[in-house]
Amino acid sequence: MNITANLESIQQRIDAACQRAGRDPAGVQIVAVTKGHSPERVRQALELDLTVLGENRIQEAKVKIPLCPGGAQWHMIGHLQTNKARDAVRLFKMVESVDSLRLAEALNEQADKAARYLPVLIEVNIAGEASKFGYPPEVLLRELDTLNALPRLEIHGLMTMAPWTPEPEKVRPVFRRLRELKEECEQRLGAPLSQLSMGMSGDFEVAVEEGATLVRIGTALLGERHGPWRPPAGEVD
Ligand SMILES: *Cc1c(COP(=O)(O)O)cnc(C)c1O
Repeated sequence: MNITANLESIQQRIDAACQRAGRDPAGVQIVAVTKGHSPERVRQALELDLTVLGENRIQEAKVKIPLCPGGAQWHMIGHLQTNKARDAVRLFKMVESVDSLRLAEALNEQADKAARYLPVLIEVNIAGEASKFGYPPEVLLRELDTLNALPRLEIHGLMTMAPWTPEPEKVRPVFRRLRELKEECEQRLGAPLSQLSMGMSGDFEVAVEEGATLVRIGTALLGERHGPWRPPAGEVD
């Protein structure tokens, strides 16, 4: 496991995908997904200037984030229960996984209490998989104005998780559809949305070719995970 070498190879693959698509690589940000990894591993990532980090569980993030001081910007990328909205607002710079109006309202309320604005992405379940969270596209288009009216949330764009496949080319239509949906949302809102969060270890090149601005990469960068990370006994209460 050599994070430096992994990062170099991932960056080269992003650059090549950008070249194929006629994009500037500066427009693609790696979100290093640190779920399942220790604070030591996070600190190694920070030393490589990987400063945008993703976690998917509040319980794990709550313990880990305070153990990783430095300039990190933490993104929440997993499903959030409304009763965890307060923790999410306290811990994260951005929530990428807003998947219901109820959650958006809870985040808005907690952001208001914290006297801050919360950048968010709306998660969309493009493929309609029952096992995944996210808005069905038609429901998003129906609720977009209501979401956009929440004064403490700043909608920066859309996020999706493609179905798992050993052949990433197969999920290209999912990424393309998310990009088109972003354009529909921009028209509806009369304002640009800057972010498309799509692509993971197995499919980020195709996602970049289809316009991803955030790629959420765990395994290919930081190695295999073995379930959630837990602190050694005695380190926290
Ligand atoms: C775990 C996770 C990732 C990263 O997955 P890898 O395949 O390890 O790169 C990306 N996005 C979300 C929402 C995740 O939960």
